[in-house]
Parts: sequence; C-alpha cells; structure tokens
Amino acid sequence: MHVQKKQPSTKGPAQMFTGDVWFDVIAAGEPPSQLRVNVVRFSPGAHTAWHRHANGQTLHVTEGIGLVQSRGGEIVEIRPGDTVYTPPGEWHWHGAAPNNFMTHLAMWESLADGQQGPETEWAEHVIDEYPTA
Ligand code: MN
Repeated sequence: MHVQKKQPSTKGPAQMFTGDVWFDVIAAGEPPSQLRVNVVRFSPGAHTAWHRHANGQTLHVTEGIGLVQSRGGEIVEIRPGDTVYTPPGEWHWHGAAPNNFMTHLAMWESLADGQQGPETEWAEHVIDEYPTA
C-alpha cells in the first residue's frame, strides 16, 4: 500500500470549463486498474463544456446545488446524495447551479488495453443551454 498525501488542487482549463472549477485527483489506478476518481469543485455558474466518456461516468454530489444535462434532454437539478450515471458515449455537461457552489465526485474508467480513444472527448462550450441566474 501507499498513502498519497494531499496534493495542490488543479484549475480546470478554460478550454473545457466555463467559470472557476478546481479538481483534486483522488485515484488514478495503476494497470490493471482503470479506476479514476476526482473531487471537482464548481463556483456558482461554473460548468463543463459538452463532453462524453468512452467508458461512461458516475457523479456523486457531496455539496451544494448542481445541474446536469444530456444532449437533447432536460436540465436536471442535483443535490448532495444524488448520483448521476452517464453511459459510454453519451454527450452531456455538468456543473453548479447559477447561484450556488457545487462539489461532486467524478468516477470513471480509463481506456482498456486495445480500446480506441479518447478516454474523454470534449466539444463546444455550453452557452445557450445554461440557465441565467
Ligand atoms: Mn462528464
């Protein structure tokens, strides 16, 4: 075993996020594990761009009020204790509600041996779909 001491948080790049988003890598499993877990903290109104995960993703809200939407679907409000599963290849975005911070765990798997990438594919920013405060 080894203990990973707390590391500095990483600012979410502007290419992939609108607003202030910070994440901490909690788990980046070494092969054969494909485990990936981040804690992601969104300031009010901050959110991801449209994206999809090759192996799907589970989000678990730990704090605040958030929003999530799949392409073509309704915006859904999410709160602490809620868990959101996005299947492989489904376009979606997630983030904070306009007037509240939101923190979630993001859990997914990296590409398996021989699996075609990318692990996460990023597209355009969410502009028209995001609600005004
Ligand atoms: Mn996602």
